[in-house]
Amino acid sequence: MIPGARLIILGRQGAGKGTQCVRLSRHYVVPHISTGDILRAAAREGTEFGLAAKQVMDDGGLVGDEIMIGLVDERLGKPDAATRGYILDGFPRTVAQARALDVITAEKPITAVIDLDVPREIVVERLSSRRVCRDCGTNYTATASQPSQWICDVCGGDIAQRADDHPDAVNRRLDLYETQTAPLIEYYSNRGTLAVVNGVGQPEHVFVRVTDAVEARR
Ligand code: ADP
Ligand code: ZN
Repeated sequence: MIPGARLIILGRQGAGKGTQCVRLSRHYVVPHISTGDILRAAAREGTEFGLAAKQVMDDGGLVGDEIMIGLVDERLGKPDAATRGYILDGFPRTVAQARALDVITAEKPITAVIDLDVPREIVVERLSSRRVCRDCGTNYTATASQPSQWICDVCGGDIAQRADDHPDAVNRRLDLYETQTAPLIEYYSNRGTLAVVNGVGQPEHVFVRVTDAVEARR
């Protein structure tokens, strides 16, 4: 039997967290829990909470800690995550969230925290060409020869640029990452759970580095 895992993936926007998380989720047979996906789903449903979250996301800001902690606490308590584990993507994003997560995971501690390291110049380039299917969330890369009406290969939905991938919002999100989220690297480093993994290169090569780092921490 493949052992499960309880993982946190840190890294700048555009570092490739989403791609690695999908692979890790299949590899360890655990749910990929993306707080960004949860918030975007709420926004699509159009609830009062979802619409408020959409406003914050489109501006490139952060949703409040209390709300995020409540969402994650509830999700980690569901049977799939509680038994086999999970891949946390996008949480924690602040030191307050990390402290709350320590309490939530007191009985079943995190296996490893992976910092997927990609320099800022490279992620800015990746984000400006990122396009996403509005319906299923599949990521694409825009090229010069891209058709104006671009349809998803997976589900036939419309492909568009995320509002928060426009240049102003990208810079705001990266600045927030440096001030709010980068301190978590030191936080987890002090606890001995951190592994810094070079995120530059082919996704399959990065994946080997990530799984090696996880196994080294069991
Ligand atoms: P990215 O990492 O590319 O910014 P995500 O999909 O992880 O994208 O998140 C999108 C947006 O959702 C964030 O910019 C932020 O507004 C909000 N968000 C997601 N996770 C959190 C969190 N843990 N705390 C606060 N806001 C969050
Ligand atoms: Zn699609």
